[in-house]
Amino acid sequence: MKKLLFVPAVIFAFTAVAQKAEPTREELAKMKPEMTEFWDPEVAVVTPGQTPMDAPSDAIVLFDGTKESFDANWTNAKGEPSGWSVADKCVTVVKGAGIIRSKMEMMDFQLHIEWRTPAEVIGESQGRGNSGIFLQGRYELQVLDNFQNRTYRNGQAGSIYKQYAPLVNVCKKPGEWQVYDVIYTAPRFKEDGTVFSPARVTVLQNGVLVQNNISLFGHTEYIGIPKYEAHGAAGLELQDHGNPVSYRNIWVRKL
Ligand code: MG
Repeated sequence: MKKLLFVPAVIFAFTAVAQKAEPTREELAKMKPEMTEFWDPEVAVVTPGQTPMDAPSDAIVLFDGTKESFDANWTNAKGEPSGWSVADKCVTVVKGAGIIRSKMEMMDFQLHIEWRTPAEVIGESQGRGNSGIFLQGRYELQVLDNFQNRTYRNGQAGSIYKQYAPLVNVCKKPGEWQVYDVIYTAPRFKEDGTVFSPARVTVLQNGVLVQNNISLFGHTEYIGIPKYEAHGAAGLELQDHGNPVSYRNIWVRKL
C-alpha cells in the first residue's frame, strides 16, 4: 500500500517540476529517489524460449512444423485449405497454389519467421528464391536469395519491396535457414480514411538490423507509387512467386 501512495506523490512532483522550465536548485535538493520510482502496475512476466529462436510463453505459434498446425492457422486466398507442401518440419511454396494467409488477424506485433531459399540455384535477380512476407497482407518484406545475386537494392532480401533497401546484405547461402525478427506497428487512419500515422517496421535478418523503425509509404506496388487504403487488423500473407521457398517456426506476439 505504501508503494501505491507514492504514485500521486510522484505525479505531483512531476507536475510541480514540469510547470517551470527549470526546477530551482532548492526544489531539486528536496527530491528523493523514490519520487521518480513507479511500482504499479507490475510489469507482466513472460517466460522466454530456450533460445531467442523459440517462442516465449505469450507468443501465438502460427506454424510449429506439423500439418495440423499449418491447417489450423493458414488458408489460401479464398479461405480454403492451402496447397502448399508440409514436410520435414517446414512448409514449402507449391508453384501456382497462390499465397497463404494466416487466419489470425493482427494490428501491432512482433514476428519471428524462418525461411530458406532452394539449395539448387536456378535463375537470377528477382527470379532466384523469391517469396515474401506481406505484413497485414499489404506490405511486403522481401524474401529472396541474394547471396552473390544482385538485383535492384530496394527489391532484395530484407527490403520493404520498392520502398526501403535493407541497411546491409546479410544473406546466408542458398539452402541455409535464415531468420527474420520483425517489430511492426500498424498504420492508423482517420475517420475520412486518410492516414493518421503510417505503418512502421523494424527488421533483423539473422540477428542483424536491416530495417530501423522505417515509416512505410503505403501498400506494396509492383508497378507504380505506393499509397494507403484504410484498413484494420489483417493476417500475414506469404507469397507464391513460383520458387520453392520454405518456412518454419513462425510465431507472433500481439503488441
Ligand atoms: Mg517477393
